[in-house]
Amino acid sequence: MHKITNISMETDVLAENKHLADHNHENLRSKGIRSLDIMGSIGSGKTALIIRLAKEMKKKGINVAVIAGDVTGQDDFNRFQEAGIKAFNINTGKECHLDSLMVDKALDHMDLEGVGFLFIENVGNLVCPADFPLGTDKRMVVISVTEGDDMVRKHPMIFQGADVGVINKMDLAEYMGIDIARVKADYRKLSGGRELLTVSERTGEGLEALVEALLV
Ligand code: MG
Ligand code: ZN
Repeated sequence: MHKITNISMETDVLAENKHLADHNHENLRSKGIRSLDIMGSIGSGKTALIIRLAKEMKKKGINVAVIAGDVTGQDDFNRFQEAGIKAFNINTGKECHLDSLMVDKALDHMDLEGVGFLFIENVGNLVCPADFPLGTDKRMVVISVTEGDDMVRKHPMIFQGADVGVINKMDLAEYMGIDIARVKADYRKLSGGRELLTVSERTGEGLEALVEALLV
């Protein structure tokens, strides 16, 4: 939870986070590592999607590492390791988002030799991660068809601040009766004309286009 009690404290916290985010960005750039902050709701399939994307990148000769951010536990971290992906676990305790200090410390402990691309899986939540950039090259938001067709319009801040928007689990779209056109129109409007990418981590639909968007 945010522990911010007044406006001037909030300004300090956000300014300090931004300062360290710039530091992280320089640090990653100096090592030749591209990076992506993956935000999204709980259960949208972020972890499984990262595992698929890591495989696609491997085919292109890019070695991947992941920082797994969760409030508690190491379930995602274990899944990455089982998939043969170099991973580092961050437990935020009570915090509902990662911040750039947590990432700075993680980077100090990680063996990044030979890594070309770093995924950072943020805590599942469509609200406060928007306020805390981590210093990645890009930020991506993941939602899925199981969450209803009002997810974008209900969370304008996070979609406005993201470089890439994705709706996952398209293989389930027909069963969910979701109005994809509405979700896409909401995103187009909020993002200033960008297209929401439709993907299915299970069938592989749209993954190639997504990898391309991440490597631009
Ligand atoms: Mg996850
Ligand atoms: Zn938070």
